[in-house]
Amino acid sequence: MFFDEMMGLGVEGMMISPGYSYDKAPDQGKFLGRAKTRKLFTKILSNRKKGWRFNQSPLFLEFLMGERQYKCTPWGMPTFNIFGWQKPCYLLQDGYVDTFAELIKETEWERYGTESGNPKCANCMVHSGYEASAVDHTFTSVGGMFATVKAMLFGRHPNRAALEALDEGGDDGHPTSAPVALTVSAKPRETAPVG
Ligand code: SF4
Repeated sequence: MFFDEMMGLGVEGMMISPGYSYDKAPDQGKFLGRAKTRKLFTKILSNRKKGWRFNQSPLFLEFLMGERQYKCTPWGMPTFNIFGWQKPCYLLQDGYVDTFAELIKETEWERYGTESGNPKCANCMVHSGYEASAVDHTFTSVGGMFATVKAMLFGRHPNRAALEALDEGGDDGHPTSAPVALTVSAKPRETAPVG
């Protein structure tokens, strides 16, 4: 499996997130709705091996599996580029402002997130919107902190049905054909001294 190969290559940590349904993408048929995204990540992230290391909030991974509900908090992972601070997140470009204070004050946050009814946010579950929500849950409540520690110590998520579904393939016969973003980080290789 891909995660085994990455760990074998010496990767320090992996980041995983669903794809975002950019309306300019030529193949719109590959993007998943929220229900299918949860199903896919339940297959991918259940029955985890001990050696897999994810450089992410364990509660965000549970959110991807449909085990938790979070609201989008895109100000928790804002985008700043040569144009300025991008409203409201790096996926949407609804204008720019010069400072983070202006971003917070001038963005109509109620227009964004799945609950807002904004069609651009309808199927979004990406890390830039929802991982900060999971981290906030961890550090602002005893329950969140307890759930995080529990997930870190015991979060292998054994699930026979998910294992069988993974073996059988996806709805279209290709378990990982949907867009999924993966980031890996690795230490530079140590080289032997010359001479
Ligand atoms: S739901 Fe997704 S697209 Fe919408 S504001 Fe949040 S991160 Fe951006």
